[in-house]
Amino acid sequence: MKEQLMIIGLDGLSWKFYLKLLNSHSISKLKKWSEKGYSSKLLSTVPPVTYLAIPSLITGKNPPNISNKLISGEKEIYNFSKEENKPFWDYGNKKLRSCIVNLRCTYPPRSLNGILVSGDLYTPSNEENYTYPPELKKEIPDFHKNLHKIEKKHNNKETYLKILKSDIKWKFSQFEKLLKKQKYDLSLFWDGNSDYLNHFFWYNKDYLKDYYNSVITLIDNVLKKSKPRNVILLSDHGFDSTYEYSFNINSWLADKGYIKQKGNKISKTIIKYINKIFYKLARNNNLIKKIGAKLTSNENQESPFSRKYPRIDYSKTIAQLDAGWWGIQLNHEILDKEEYIKIRSKLIKELRQIEFSDEGVFQEIWSSQELYNYEAYGKKCPDIYLLTKPKFRCNPPIGNNHFEKDVKKDVRPGHHYNSREGFLLAFGKDINNLNYTAKNSIMDVAPTILNRFNIDNNMEGDIIEELFKSEDGLELTTTRTREEMEIKKSVNKLFGKKDD
Ligand SMILES: [Zn+2]
Repeated sequence: MKEQLMIIGLDGLSWKFYLKLLNSHSISKLKKWSEKGYSSKLLSTVPPVTYLAIPSLITGKNPPNISNKLISGEKEIYNFSKEENKPFWDYGNKKLRSCIVNLRCTYPPRSLNGILVSGDLYTPSNEENYTYPPELKKEIPDFHKNLHKIEKKHNNKETYLKILKSDIKWKFSQFEKLLKKQKYDLSLFWDGNSDYLNHFFWYNKDYLKDYYNSVITLIDNVLKKSKPRNVILLSDHGFDSTYEYSFNINSWLADKGYIKQKGNKISKTIIKYINKIFYKLARNNNLIKKIGAKLTSNENQESPFSRKYPRIDYSKTIAQLDAGWWGIQLNHEILDKEEYIKIRSKLIKELRQIEFSDEGVFQEIWSSQELYNYEAYGKKCPDIYLLTKPKFRCNPPIGNNHFEKDVKKDVRPGHHYNSREGFLLAFGKDINNLNYTAKNSIMDVAPTILNRFNIDNNMEGDIIEELFKSEDGLELTTTRTREEMEIKKSVNKLFGKKDD
C-alpha cells in the first residue's frame, strides 16, 4: 500500500460551528489544516441521524438500500454483520489493513483485515466483547469503562463536560496505543461524545469551544505520533437549537381528507380531547408512552401501511406520518400506481405551501425517487421525505391543533432532527488545496477513498474527484464548483480525453 489514511469523525459537528471554530483564536491548529487542505459541507441523510448517516458513510449506500425497515422508523438497528452491508474497508478482498476504533453502529464487531473496537451507542457495556479479533480486548479491557457515566442523566453540567472530555482523552490514548503496535493503510477514530456535547451544551458555545479545543489537541498529538500521509476529518450531521413548535401533521392530513377517521362528529371530538390529554401526559412520562405503544400495537404486520392509530378507517386513508418525523407513507393498497403518482405530487405541492406565522414550515420536501432514487411503491418505507426548518418538528398526534408550542421539558437544548449540514476537511500530502463551494454527500466518502486505493466498487455515492491530487501530480489550486468539474468531465468525455 502506498499510503496511510487517517479518518477522524466528530459526531454532529455542524458546518456552521466548524466555521466558528476556524475563526476561534484558541484553536489555531484547525485553521492551519484548513488553509492547506480541502473542505466542503458534507450533507447527511434524511433524517440526519447517526444510525442512518454512519451506515451510509461506511457503505456508500442510500439508507433505503441499506434497509427500508431502518428508514421506516421501526425499531431496527443497522445490521453490520450482513454481507450486503459490508463497510468500505472490506472491499478489494480486504486488501486494506485497517484499524477502526470507537465507530458507532459497529457493534457487534465483524471480522476484517486488521482490528476493530466497536463504538458507543450500540455497545451495551464494558463487559461485552466489543473487539475484533476477540483477543484484542485483553489489550484494551477498559475501553468502554465510562459508558454508563456518559449515558446517565447529569444535573451538574460542569461535571458532565469533564466526564466527556476525560473519556475522549482516554479513548484517544487507547487508539494511539493500538496504532503504535502496527502500521495500517487505514485508521479511523470516531468521537461520539461530540454528539452528547452538542445535545446538552448547545446553549453555551464556550463549553463547545472548550471541548473541541481539547479534542483538536488530541488529534494533533495522534498525527504527530503516527504521521499519516493524508487525513480526513468529518461529521455525520449538523446541529441546531431544539424545535419550538410541533406540527401535528396527521391532524393536517385528517383535515385535508387524506386520513379518514371513524365515527360521527361527537365521537371525533371526544377522541380529539382524549388524544390531546394523552399526548400531553406522554411527553413527560415514559410509562404512559409505553402504555400508549401497547394500546396501539394491534398492527397488521403484513401490510406495508401501518394500522396502528385507533379509530382510523384504513380502507379510506390515503396518507399518514407513521413512526418518526421525516416521512409520509401513502396507502399502496388502495392506490394504483397511476393514482399514487398523482396524489404524491399533489400532496407535496400542498405541503410546500404550509405556513405558520407567515413562514414556510419546510426546508425541502422530496419524493423517495427524488431524494434516494428509490422506488417506494409497494414497500414499507416513506414515499415522501420531509425536512422541516429547525424551528419545527413533525409529530404524529391526530386530533390536535396543527401547530403547538412545544411544552416538553427537554433537557437537551441541541437537536439534529433536520440539520443535514456536517463538515468535511481533508489535508495531507496528496490532498488538493481547495475550499469547495458546493456540497458533498456523506455517501461520497467511501467511494472516494476506495478510488484512491484503486479498489473497484459500485457504490451509490459519487467519487469526490477534486479531493485527492490526480495521479500525474496535477494540483488544483483554484476554487472550482462541482458544476465546473462536471462540465470539464463531459467535455473530456466528448473528446475522448482522460479526466485530469
Ligand atoms: Zn451523530
